[in-house]
Amino acid sequence: MANDDNELYRRITEARHLVALTGAGVSTLSGIRDFRGKNGLYNDMDAEKIFDIDYFEKDPSFYYSRAGSFIYNIDEKEPSVVHTVLGVLEQRGILKAVITQNIDLLHQKGGSKNVIEVHGSPKMHYCMRCAGVRMDFEEAAKIVRSGGMPKCPHCGRVLKPAITFFGESLPADALREAVTEAQKADLMLVLGTSLTVYPAASIPDYTLRSGGEVIIVNNMPTPLDRQAVMRFEELGPVFEGLKACLG
Ligand code: ZN
Repeated sequence: MANDDNELYRRITEARHLVALTGAGVSTLSGIRDFRGKNGLYNDMDAEKIFDIDYFEKDPSFYYSRAGSFIYNIDEKEPSVVHTVLGVLEQRGILKAVITQNIDLLHQKGGSKNVIEVHGSPKMHYCMRCAGVRMDFEEAAKIVRSGGMPKCPHCGRVLKPAITFFGESLPADALREAVTEAQKADLMLVLGTSLTVYPAASIPDYTLRSGGEVIIVNNMPTPLDRQAVMRFEELGPVFEGLKACLG
């Protein structure tokens, strides 16, 4: 294991254009429920409705009353060792981008600046009727935590978070950026995702097809395991090892 740690560290620090792709496993280390996963929030009957666009248009209070505990309580959430190590790697100029399926803003809290959120993000809220109306996360969170809902100053409609809901298309700009970064990457770290859901499933393919390499850390099998140059199960120990190497 120690040798593997050293080899992993060497590959990461020697990469010319390192990119990370992260999924729910990275957040569950921070105690965030994997809301799309097996033991996730989606096992609750009501939960599928929380992120359903048709339902949101009918009754946005359903989302805001239930999402409060896991979207807007950012002050109570701590980035995991994965988030913070990725933050340090970016600050040192090694990591060029984090592509994430997560919507919890923990990469930003962990120090990452270039975060490409392919399932959207609550960092911005907008009016579905009035073009150009925007509210940032902090302002919206304050309202939600006090039991209210952020509303459009022009038409009074409840604002929608820029998270991709079921029934909406994924953010085209973020997808384009993700593909560009994946193609540029000579090394991609695939972290805490089983690569079964689009677009995450297709992103490492761009790296492999451009001649780059993939390292996978995930506690479930992925379709790309046999193409990975290194493969680990548990994120925690791997990133504690990296943290020690980074000093
Ligand atoms: Zn409006």
